[in-house]
Amino acid sequence: MVKQTIQIFARVKPPVRKHQQGIYSIDEDEKLIPSLEIILPRDLADGFVNNKRESYKFKFQRIFDQDANQETVFENIAKPVAGSVLAGYNGTIFAYGQTGSGKTFTITGGAERYSDRGIIPRTLSYIFEQLQKDSSKIYTTHISYLEIYNECGYDLLDPRHEASSLEDLPKVTILEDPDQNIHLKNLTLHQATTEEEALNLLFLGDTNRMIAETPMNQASTRSHCIFTIHLSSKEPGSATVRHAKLHLVDLAGSERVAKTGVGGHLLTEAKYINLSLHYLEQVIIALSEKHRSHIPYRNSMMTSVLRDSLGGNCMTTMIATLSLEKRNLDESISTCRFAQRVALIKNEAVLNEEINPRLVIKRLQKEIQELKDELAMVTGEQRTEALTEAELLQLEKLITSFLEDQDSDSRLEVGADMRKVHHCFHHLKKLLNDKKILENNTVSSESKDQDCQEPLKEEEYRKLRDILKQRDNEISILSEVMKKLPLSWFERGMREEMSLGCQEAFEIFKRDHADSVTIDDNKQILKQRFSEAKALGESINEARSKIGHLKEEITQRHIQQVALGISENMAVPLMPDQQEEKLRSQLEEEKRRYKTMFTRLKALKVEIEHLQLLMDKAKVKLQKEFEVWWAEEATNLQVNSPAVNSLDHTKPFLQTSDSQHEWSQLLSNKSSGGWEVQDQGTGRFDVCDVNARKILPSPCPSPHSQKQSSTSTPLEDSIPKRPVSSIPLTGDSQTDSDIIAFIKARQSILQKQCLGSN
Ligand code: ADP
Ligand code: MG
Repeated sequence: MVKQTIQIFARVKPPVRKHQQGIYSIDEDEKLIPSLEIILPRDLADGFVNNKRESYKFKFQRIFDQDANQETVFENIAKPVAGSVLAGYNGTIFAYGQTGSGKTFTITGGAERYSDRGIIPRTLSYIFEQLQKDSSKIYTTHISYLEIYNECGYDLLDPRHEASSLEDLPKVTILEDPDQNIHLKNLTLHQATTEEEALNLLFLGDTNRMIAETPMNQASTRSHCIFTIHLSSKEPGSATVRHAKLHLVDLAGSERVAKTGVGGHLLTEAKYINLSLHYLEQVIIALSEKHRSHIPYRNSMMTSVLRDSLGGNCMTTMIATLSLEKRNLDESISTCRFAQRVALIKNEAVLNEEINPRLVIKRLQKEIQELKDELAMVTGEQRTEALTEAELLQLEKLITSFLEDQDSDSRLEVGADMRKVHHCFHHLKKLLNDKKILENNTVSSESKDQDCQEPLKEEEYRKLRDILKQRDNEISILSEVMKKLPLSWFERGMREEMSLGCQEAFEIFKRDHADSVTIDDNKQILKQRFSEAKALGESINEARSKIGHLKEEITQRHIQQVALGISENMAVPLMPDQQEEKLRSQLEEEKRRYKTMFTRLKALKVEIEHLQLLMDKAKVKLQKEFEVWWAEEATNLQVNSPAVNSLDHTKPFLQTSDSQHEWSQLLSNKSSGGWEVQDQGTGRFDVCDVNARKILPSPCPSPHSQKQSSTSTPLEDSIPKRPVSSIPLTGDSQTDSDIIAFIKARQSILQKQCLGSN
């Protein structure tokens, strides 16, 4: 049993704006426990009441400042936990902090660079690497991915996910057995035999989560996500199985409702999150108090699922993510306070060993048979009648499979029947003799030269087999890599669903989307990696044939020397000469080169797969955002309501008189009246002056626009809310071309405006 308090770490996110001096400091004296000091400036202009204290100090196991990269965070936080999980203990890592403080970045990773991959992909990579290295056990790995939103559980890996919205899926529910063990109904476990399969599951879950998210539910900040790696291991022949679970948890944003200041639907959600995190806090308070007998785990789904992680059978680690900017200081302080309480919780992790009854029965049956046989032998109970044909055939089959079995521990079990034992010996003798005759025939037909190489054969066979295996490996890596050559993936499967107008709009949307720069960059990187992989493949081939040639040269030299020795009646020198030494060192060098390139090729493969998945995810995101935007535009066109015009109290987007003039011209050209001022006032267009690339509606609504969309306006109330996945593109060519005209007009105006402001 390992007794341990929950380990707490802090990670400070790089600020969006330039570093604000003097807000915090980190004291990492080697002899002391590291501490983080948050200093409240006296004159906080934004109304922060600061009449009590000036600075707050918090202790952490370790504090990762802004410049700590993902690799460092993984090495120090996740690797030790993954190590314990491999040894058979449960582990949990959870990230806690306000929205935007870097929880998802830390747990899953950034959406752009390969180097930004977070704890989950790195842990998967590490675990599968270790499993491959350890051949003493048989491992099985399963993955599950649970999302808790508004106190309901959803299976992010449910195959029906793509076809339905969150609400239509069966909810994951908690069942408790008489031993108070928690079981999750409707949460699927997917076996993953390789890192690639596991990574695919992670991305599948993340994509499903993204698809289910609507601007209204903002699930990514309001839900908790639990990615779990279930590992079981067993030694061959043993009936004892070890099970361990590793939960990697991305909690909902910990900010308070008061601060978000939202109303209506969002308040319900905020209340729920708070409820959930509130119950988490209650559990933690209860656990950190001595002599508390009742711990209120059952109050919420999350605390029920994480029951073992909090004060139970688990090695748990918390990462407090902090966004230490002036306006976030109060939230950061409350995150740190929460962490200090968490640090008081004691866990007791035990090895989760279980005896598999089926394996035990099998073992016992075998033992009984052996004992019976032994008894028969001891009591001298001998059978005299001859073995039947069927029995003889059965025996010969046993012998064949025994001879073919590569396992050195395998046994030929015939029982304590001397008739059978004798027959086995006879049969083996016959096989041996047959083999000898065959070999003699072959040898006599071969040249005598080869005869002298006989001792080499076994060794050569082994080497050839290894080379073959390695070659198979390379081929499979390369062919997998090549299979993923970048297709024009934007286009795949989308065009046929779209009307012409919609296609054109998508082209424009795609071009002007903020993510397109990242996507293009990644595409470039991917292309580079592909050509690198191709070039490496060729170099590996060259190296391999060079190795072959060098080996051949060395062998030829040997043969020549032997021939020379025979013809001149001289002894063959035992030590290799200078020329051979040279050849051998070249061979070693070439082998090293080969190995380095092969390792690089394997790493490239992982990187290519990861980038490919990032791109696929970006594609889905782009498509989804386009659909939302397109549906909005279509609805705006269709809503021909006079009420709409009364909304022009919202901030008009185009301020200059010139552009306003152009707009009114444009509007007056349309009879539908659907292009009201409201359209310009959604706040979604004012990105133009910041970034000229984003001419079209900002795909990622800013907090400002979120707020607007969440405050129900009469117009929005009149639009039926549908889950994103079910919003059809209009498909009506008239409407579509209207929208195109609209986009084009808007674009040209905005372009002019951007040029003018430069
Ligand atoms: P959360 O999940 O806590 O709401 P995110 O992980 O989504 O926050 O982070 C918000 C933004 O900040 C993202 O764009 C993310 O890429 C970026 N970010 C967070 N942490 C870091 C970091 N340590 N280094 C660089 N960028 C970061
Ligand atoms: Mg997040």
